Amino acid sequence: MRSIDIHAHVTPQSYISAMKGGQVWHGVQPEPLDIEPQLEWTPEQRIKDMDSLGVDVQVASTGAQFYYYGGDAQAVAAMHRECNDEVHQMTIDHPERFRGLAQIPMQDVDLAIAELDRCVNQLGMVGAMIDDKVNGKTFDEPEFLPLWKAAEQMGAVFLIHQGGGTLVRPRTRSYHLPNTIGNLVDRAVTFASFVMGGVMDACPDLKICLAHGGGYACYGVGRMDRSWDVGRLPQIPQPPSAYLSRFYYDCLTHSESALRMLIDMAGIDKVVFGTDWPFDMQIDWPVSWVLGLESLTQDEKEAILWKNMEKLLGITSD
Ligand SMILES: [Zn+2]
Repeated sequence: MRSIDIHAHVTPQSYISAMKGGQVWHGVQPEPLDIEPQLEWTPEQRIKDMDSLGVDVQVASTGAQFYYYGGDAQAVAAMHRECNDEVHQMTIDHPERFRGLAQIPMQDVDLAIAELDRCVNQLGMVGAMIDDKVNGKTFDEPEFLPLWKAAEQMGAVFLIHQGGGTLVRPRTRSYHLPNTIGNLVDRAVTFASFVMGGVMDACPDLKICLAHGGGYACYGVGRMDRSWDVGRLPQIPQPPSAYLSRFYYDCLTHSESALRMLIDMAGIDKVVFGTDWPFDMQIDWPVSWVLGLESLTQDEKEAILWKNMEKLLGITSD
């Protein structure tokens, strides 16, 4: 049994060095890292942990704290190039264990396309991880369409993953809700923005993976469909639920019944393995968790753990 994890984060070693040396890094002052010691681990230390977890391949992404979409576009583009070169080096040093998702400066669509092109077409990375929003804008804004078109052409995959504050945060900062509920709210808004903004119709081959099981997209789509039924979404030819199977979703639901619903609504070929390594909200023993789910067939477990990811990323196993 193989396993390929689309949701696993990296902190650039160059950032860690700057932090330890008290130096400025691409215009930002590095702050002490979160509580997880794994954030400072070398690729070799990661691989040991992956072995203990039964994870064969991580599709590594520099963490969401490195989006910096509010910063100067050229400075952030240089920061992202350094992040991406480091992830690329992991894929060169350990080609059997790592693939890479890029950081791209979304505040400047031309620069974002250029970096995505460099990462995918020159460095062999599989796509990019991006936030649910860019300085308050959602992805139905026409200014982003050239990026979706370019990505579609390249066959690049986007992993959609919140950064900074979610929509819940202005309401409450209590009880970890900006994360536990907020991530899922943000993902539902992103699903709706891509669908209702016509992006999925304009880009039929665009590959979008919604992290955290797509959040409330599946659970909430009936109400979105109702708004289509009563004529509030005249711009799309089908109800929103018809677009569920156009997206990919990681399995990071922390709930078997929610994962079962996701499979039943989006299709088993759309659910991929994602763990959120190494953060505290990750799935503990993720391979064992999937293998132990009683409501999934063996074929469904294999599809989630590796077969769907191989197809999505064009990886051939021998
Ligand atoms: Zn994550």
